[in-house]
Amino acid sequence: MPELPEVETTCKGIQPYVENQTIVQFIIRNARLRWPVEAHLTQTLKNTVIQSVSRRGKYILLTTQKGVLMLHLGMSGNLRVLPSTSTPIKHDHIDIVLSNQRVLRLNDPRRFGSVLWHDAIQGSVKNHRLLCKLAPEPFSKEFNADYLYQKIKTKNVAIKKLIMNNQIIVGAGNIYASEALFNAKIHPLTIGKTLNKDMCQRLVTKIKNVLRESIKQGGTTLKDFVKPDGKPGYFEQKLNVYGRNGQPCTQCNTAIEKVIISQRASFYCPNCQPVKGS
Ligand SMILES: [Zn+2]
Repeated sequence: MPELPEVETTCKGIQPYVENQTIVQFIIRNARLRWPVEAHLTQTLKNTVIQSVSRRGKYILLTTQKGVLMLHLGMSGNLRVLPSTSTPIKHDHIDIVLSNQRVLRLNDPRRFGSVLWHDAIQGSVKNHRLLCKLAPEPFSKEFNADYLYQKIKTKNVAIKKLIMNNQIIVGAGNIYASEALFNAKIHPLTIGKTLNKDMCQRLVTKIKNVLRESIKQGGTTLKDFVKPDGKPGYFEQKLNVYGRNGQPCTQCNTAIEKVIISQRASFYCPNCQPVKGS
């Protein structure tokens, strides 16, 4: 599943080709994404300029003078910039044809992605129902130890589940949550309200680090967003615990264990991450 680092890299990858370009044509090949793509967009978006490309949570926002197009990659989506003459392949559902003879193309085999429209008359896109409750961005100053401590100090819930809640923090998907907890030496089942401020500080630092490191590695794949044969998507990265059930811990050689928390697999080292943390 594309996580925040992949979305950030997609955003940066498409930006130079998309920003300040006029939409020549908006093509809907299959409107049945997570939510139906609004048919009027083929008319509404024609001849409008994409003023900026930005990101909020896992939404890519294409801002025009008429409103904001909100793209989400869902479980399996990807966005590519291709020559406008290139032939669509299976699962290429949406094309945004641009004045620079390129096309921004959404491919999504599982169709959990979305292309939503927020009209300018509805005010700031920040107030959109899917964005207004989102927690601070992980790299923002608002996401700090005091903030996390206040958010979780009464919560009788496993810390892994809390940091994956996008009303507490956005961007700590399953892989990154497991890795950050390992790096912070906190067991994923530790109850939120038992974390002290020092533990919150460690966890905040490690979440930022693990996401930053992933984005840094993803930066090397930026060129793939304009190559027809490129395969942008899931970053290859060195993982300490995620998916390593039964394998030796990179720090102490203890076998990595797996536990299911809220239907998601979580991985941890029972030696490096004692149950209560410390
Ligand atoms: Zn260990």
